[in-house]
Amino acid sequence: MDKADGQEFPDVQCRDTTRLVSAARDGEIDEAGLRALAAHLQDCERCQLAKQQFTRMFEALDELLARRTDHSGGA
Ligand SMILES: [Zn+2]
Repeated sequence: MDKADGQEFPDVQCRDTTRLVSAARDGEIDEAGLRALAAHLQDCERCQLAKQQFTRMFEALDELLARRTDHSGGA
């Protein structure tokens, strides 16, 4: 199979990054998507910052949700 690397996101743009970062968190994108995202982040300082803030926001969210589920305490 020698397609063009099967790139689903050949050209990631700034407005795509948050969606991709979020999808990456949920495990909803494949390696090609991750690579395209990483490639864009390498080139784009703004998106690096955005990704950091986004990640932090998600961590805070996770914490909140963890606390909430803590309460019912069941696996
Ligand atoms: Zn960007």
